[in-house]
Amino acid sequence: MNDDPILKVEDVEVTFTVGRIGRRNAILGVAGVSFELRRGETFALVGESGSGKTTLARAVNGLQAISAGAITFEGQRIDGLDRKAMKPLRRRMSMMFQDPVGSLSPRMSVGDIVTEPLRIHGFEGRDLKDEAARLLPLVGLPLEYADRYPHQLSGGQARRVGVARAIALDPVLIIADEPTAGLDVSVQGEVLNLLNELRERLGLAMVIITHNLHVVHHVADRMAVMYLGRFVETGATQAVFGAPAHPYTAALLSANPEPDPDRAQNRISLPAEVPSLLARPAGCEFHTRCPWARDNCRTVAPPRVALEDRSLSCHYPLKPGARPPRRERP
Ligand code: SF4
Repeated sequence: MNDDPILKVEDVEVTFTVGRIGRRNAILGVAGVSFELRRGETFALVGESGSGKTTLARAVNGLQAISAGAITFEGQRIDGLDRKAMKPLRRRMSMMFQDPVGSLSPRMSVGDIVTEPLRIHGFEGRDLKDEAARLLPLVGLPLEYADRYPHQLSGGQARRVGVARAIALDPVLIIADEPTAGLDVSVQGEVLNLLNELRERLGLAMVIITHNLHVVHHVADRMAVMYLGRFVETGATQAVFGAPAHPYTAALLSANPEPDPDRAQNRISLPAEVPSLLARPAGCEFHTRCPWARDNCRTVAPPRVALEDRSLSCHYPLKPGARPPRRERP
């Protein structure tokens, strides 16, 4: 099997202009991130709201222009392509948006929704009923659901319809934005199992965007933790979960609700608000919230360092099980 990456993201930046005419400011929403993805792999983008995950995913899908870097999909540079040039490529890369029910058109039947990509891409010649009959069982829905409407579906069923729509054109890459948002915990597991199963069966590559670390642990081979648009730690999911080395990763993982009561006591609480992208902190941009920050963190940006099983940007990577130092009360 060809082991070339399906997707290569190299030093990508996304800049937004905000403010009124005369007082415009450029802000960096995604700040120089890189990753690669091969067939059958799942890569997770993790971080709080506003960390740049969705912006990066939209950039990969051609819905957001980039201001620097390069995006290569199946060997072809795709950054800078216009809508028309992107259209055939969108057959090969699908995007699943948040909100399982709201993202489905309420006036279309399930059969029409799952086959809509075929109509958009000019495959009306195919028997769309046959196509619906092919797609619905793949996502575990009975054929009679083809005649139902979104308001007649549960959140989990709606998500399955979204997955069927995403695989309608036999893509090689699926980008899923918060694939389990709004679903009960038991249904979340079903949807994740479905994605895993399809990835294996169809040889898909997936980018999963989420703030839910259970999702990451369940489906991702590799992960990147984003903070203010940068990757602060990337690596194999098992290695990062086993021993987070960046303080922000450690804090996110410690906040992950666990049934184990001992775990709850180990929560690392982060003081202070997330800084504005309009006023990025000097030095390490996480220093305003980092319990381990030292003087040089406030002035010197940590370089990106590649270790054996991950890469990260921190002057003082954590040892396994590290606890925040006690601070003197002022
Ligand atoms: Fe914390 Fe310093 Fe590491 Fe930044 S460089 S994450 S402030 S210890």
